Amino acid sequence: MTTATATKYVFSFGDGKADGGATMKNELGGKGANLAEMTSIGLPVPAGFTISTGVCTYYYDNGETYPEQLRDDVAAALEKIEKAMGAKFGCTENPLLLSCRSGARESMPGMMDTVLNIGLNDTTVAALAKKSGNEQFAWDSYRRFVQMYGDVVLEMKTLDKKEIDPFEHLLEAKKEAEGVEFDSGLSAAGLKELVKEFKAAIKERTGNDFPDEPLDQLWGAIGAVFSSWMNDRAMVYRRQYGIPHEWGTAVNVQAMVFGNLSEDSASGVGLTRDCSLGDPGFRGDYLINAQGEDVVAGIRSTKRVEESLHDDMPEAFDRLNEIGKILEKHYKDVQDIEFTVQHGKVWMLQTRNAKRTGFAAVRIAVDLVNEGLIDPKEALNPRRIPADDLNQLLQPIFDPDAKAAADAEGRLLTKGINAGPGATYGKICFHAEDAEAQYNADNDVQLILVRRETSPEDLRGMQAAKGILTAFGGASSHAALVSRQMGKVCIVGATELDIDYQAGTMSVGDKTFNEGDYISIDGFTGEVFEGSVTTKPSEVLDVVIHKAGDPEKSETYKRYAQLMEWVDEHRTLNVRTNADSPDQAAEAIAFGAEGIGLCRTEHMFFHHVDEIREMILAETKEVRQKAIDKLLPYQRSDFEGLFRAMEGRPVTVRLLDPPLHEFLSERHLEEDPALAGQLAKMTGKSEDEIHRRVEGLHESNPMLGHRGCRLGIVYPEITAMQARAIMEAACAVKKEGIDVHPEIMIPLVGFLAEFKDQEKIVRAQAEAVMAETGQKVEYLVGTMIEVPRAAVCADQIATGAEFFSFGTNDLTQTALGISRDDYGGFIGYYREHDIVPNDPFQTIDFDGVGGLMKIGVEGGRSSRKDLKIGICGEHGGDPASVKFCHSIGLNYVSCSPFRVPIARLAAAQAAVSQG
Ligand code: ADP
Ligand code: MG
Ligand code: MG
Repeated sequence: MTTATATKYVFSFGDGKADGGATMKNELGGKGANLAEMTSIGLPVPAGFTISTGVCTYYYDNGETYPEQLRDDVAAALEKIEKAMGAKFGCTENPLLLSCRSGARESMPGMMDTVLNIGLNDTTVAALAKKSGNEQFAWDSYRRFVQMYGDVVLEMKTLDKKEIDPFEHLLEAKKEAEGVEFDSGLSAAGLKELVKEFKAAIKERTGNDFPDEPLDQLWGAIGAVFSSWMNDRAMVYRRQYGIPHEWGTAVNVQAMVFGNLSEDSASGVGLTRDCSLGDPGFRGDYLINAQGEDVVAGIRSTKRVEESLHDDMPEAFDRLNEIGKILEKHYKDVQDIEFTVQHGKVWMLQTRNAKRTGFAAVRIAVDLVNEGLIDPKEALNPRRIPADDLNQLLQPIFDPDAKAAADAEGRLLTKGINAGPGATYGKICFHAEDAEAQYNADNDVQLILVRRETSPEDLRGMQAAKGILTAFGGASSHAALVSRQMGKVCIVGATELDIDYQAGTMSVGDKTFNEGDYISIDGFTGEVFEGSVTTKPSEVLDVVIHKAGDPEKSETYKRYAQLMEWVDEHRTLNVRTNADSPDQAAEAIAFGAEGIGLCRTEHMFFHHVDEIREMILAETKEVRQKAIDKLLPYQRSDFEGLFRAMEGRPVTVRLLDPPLHEFLSERHLEEDPALAGQLAKMTGKSEDEIHRRVEGLHESNPMLGHRGCRLGIVYPEITAMQARAIMEAACAVKKEGIDVHPEIMIPLVGFLAEFKDQEKIVRAQAEAVMAETGQKVEYLVGTMIEVPRAAVCADQIATGAEFFSFGTNDLTQTALGISRDDYGGFIGYYREHDIVPNDPFQTIDFDGVGGLMKIGVEGGRSSRKDLKIGICGEHGGDPASVKFCHSIGLNYVSCSPFRVPIARLAAAQAAVSQG
């Protein structure tokens, strides 16, 4: 048992003073920490207290019970609220009402639950009505409370969407009976009846009476928040965003302020600047005469702060803008806020650093530097621009001509709010589960998830879709928020859409679309088109790769360029690319690659597969040599192209690596019945002999078979030819006046002897070629480290090898004993059950594979102090892995061309965070 007396579990805020502050997110959760902080800096926050995340941990460690002292601490904190607000909880004349809200260290929008208006019962509601002079308001609050309490605490929320929600059902019926469109139009009498009906529904479903005692209500709500930490959608969310289950949530209890009190009351959400593209200026959504959740839920169409609040409530509008500036100055970042206006006075209920798209992240970080709020180093903070999000700037936009044509053809259907930039087209899909199922059947499927609104249950379906389109909701709706975070193209609030889930149709005016019909959405402008509109590369790509766009005209490109300058100033890790052709190489250079970390020669071989097959079928050295001689000129000219494109940057060429049956196997013979005949003719053998030879190549575990340097060792002619082709190309290009730095890399080495065998062949050819051509080229011979033995024996191998490159794909396969081609069958299960923290083929398994890498680095540099070490597996473009590579002292990472900017940013972030 923990002795709890010394621990502080409850933190009060109110009256300009707070026990906690923004730095205490771990204990207070984000919401609680920032409520405390806003209180301290003098912003208007209703008084309240936060129960720390430590209590959540305690709760789960101790069979869902609380520390002993908690009741007293809560009672004391409650008294402070009563004092600050001049009202008393449960009082029959001047009742204080409370909200009870969850809040983890990192925001998990909509994942956990909130209960408003706690403290109402048949007695206190009368007091509230009397005191406010507004009976309708008092009963509206009461009916909301009973409904929320029923949903959240008494677990009456319907999980299956097809099931009827008893509360919603009764509410709809009442609105119909009174002939009103919105619940704000219901009469006090109607609301009174509703409360009765709600309570009856609760009794019927749960068998229990609704709790009347305010303190019971409060503790019920506190318990529900702690329990919601472990609900299914919260767990799914945490898994997706890598939030540890151990963190726990805090609970915030706070005095209520009322946006549903009158026509000069409102509740709303806002952003201190746009988080879709990053444009400056406060913006938000609000509803007059409404309470909290209405705005986010998309029940009524919201109004936009920047458009109409100025006319509706000028003072509140000015105050909000002022508060926005104060917050940005204080937090030095864009804030996402929740507020309520009660009789014209603005109250702050939440602030947090806003989620944003990659576009907005870059623009905002760069703008904040230019506005003098932060310095460039701070702009690189991964919290501001997660390196992966840079990817979004490279996402497609609509081809302007195709879009103009679609417009001219009258295919523009409607316009909503642009919530997630990018452009995409796809088949209409109405249900998240369907989207997920279709995606699982075909990962390339192009889907647009079309919904009235989205909710946390739709997360996985949203992930599966290319774009999201909703009829309701504003720029801060669930759909908008989540899409921004996922980097999905998204349009919300396309109110002209009429979506009929039952019929499976979406209509606009007189046009109706079915599930599976194609539409296109432009997340920059909010436009929805009929059919598919062709996309084209992003503005950044246009300038960087296609040299087409005007750099001066593209705001996106300008910010990108400014950011990347800072990136290169700060990073110490070099970034190379994995490229096999001059085109790819040129692209990568435009993205900032500083060399080639991996050229896979077999990719070139696939263009000359006849000659390869001749080589494979050869049974004598002479015949093999003849076939290989035919390959030499092709390889040489490929390498020449690569060296030219790289203009003096280092180029690592890996010698032949894959098992030969990738070029010729029984499968090839089956798929092409004429092939055996052709090969027989080509080689002068019989078809039978061809079949036998191909059978002989079969391996039962090819990944661990005759591949890598094992090929070159058994067939030294291959190595010799490749080394010659590389060096002839190098000498030829050097002669043209272009500097060359070939680095010849031996794959799959485990024994020093393997390396030496191949090195000898390579050096002999290199010396011969240089003598023949009279050119002197500086070249290196090194090796991949991709089997555990190589890592463990790195000190031996480095006595020969002049550089190392970690081949982390194979190293992961061989260290974990998990085949990359077969792990699809269980990795999903492993992830969902938290057996592994990440997909080890995406993010380096730091302890295992990473441990081997550390051994490799240490061993290698113990024999050769200045050993150049890089990584060329897929992991080279994964930000977390890049950070790891930086930390163990690699010289470079190498990744595919499109990931080069991401790796550069990740490298800078690693350097900056190390201080
Ligand atoms: P979430 O984390 O899902 O945003 P919150 O705890 O922030 O949930 O609550 C949602 C909304 O409920 C708030 O934005 C606010 O409008 C309303 N709300 C919460 N507490 C209060 C309060 N004390 N007074 C008035 N409204 C409140
Ligand atoms: Mg909130
Ligand atoms: Mg390999």
